[in-house]
Amino acid sequence: MALRSYSRAPLLHLQLGKEDFMASGHYRRVLLKLSGEVLMGDQSFGIDPDTVARVAAEVKAAKDTGLELCLVIGGGNIFRGMAGAAKGMDRAQADYMGMLATVMNALAMQNALEQLGVQTRVQSAIEMDKVCEPVIRRRAERHLEKGRIVIFAAGVGAPYFTTDSGAALRAAEMKCDALLKGTSVDGVYDADPKKVPTAKRYETLSYDRVLSDNLKVMDASAVALCRDNSIPIVVFSIREQGNILKVLDGSGTFTVVTQEKD
Ligand code: UDP
Repeated sequence: MALRSYSRAPLLHLQLGKEDFMASGHYRRVLLKLSGEVLMGDQSFGIDPDTVARVAAEVKAAKDTGLELCLVIGGGNIFRGMAGAAKGMDRAQADYMGMLATVMNALAMQNALEQLGVQTRVQSAIEMDKVCEPVIRRRAERHLEKGRIVIFAAGVGAPYFTTDSGAALRAAEMKCDALLKGTSVDGVYDADPKKVPTAKRYETLSYDRVLSDNLKVMDASAVALCRDNSIPIVVFSIREQGNILKVLDGSGTFTVVTQEKD
């Protein structure tokens, strides 16, 4: 296990020894998972169009490096099933509302990307043929081949899951080389860096360590799915401008979760 002090210093690639996933040249196809909160900017709720446009420009820049790009966006900026359940709602019902929230975010991102001239398709795990396609893997393949970004919405299409699991599932079935998880923190820490100033960031971690220590990278089912399919999880901050490209070329600050022994 590699620990690093909480600092903005770039990682030393040689120390990482992860040439298989470093540098965009080694990625053919990636899945980028963004939490819904990324779209709300400085608001406390909902979708901020300026922020969506900024993130879309970063996604376009990543795509322009020649990558095939799948996108999964959460719904936490609008609705989370757990929050509804905590207030007395039926959990499954609340989760379906959460899934619908992810479709709204997907449509917002599609709109922003297409305003930048990027071809996209939204595929939802809950069919709604007036607004998007259903998830059809072979069709998604074709979209990627044609240079379109495929935005997968509604997670796995079932309650009691999250969009992290949806991201892991789509990354596996689309045979992505990595799952890039853009969050508000620049990696995985041994404590909450917002509360504990001495918190240390891991450079690399094994899936098993994440699961045994219950580290908050993604939910356990998502981590297990990535482990079983050997998909590296790259955790980075999407809040800093230009970070997607930096992660792709290996110059950014991030944590990589792989099979590696701790
Ligand atoms: N959700 C679900 N099944 C899925 C994906 C999502 O039930 O396969 C619901 C769940 O209620 C979740 C909400 O949709 O809380 C929004 O997704 P998530 O919490 O993953 O969004 P994020 O935290 O990434 O913004």
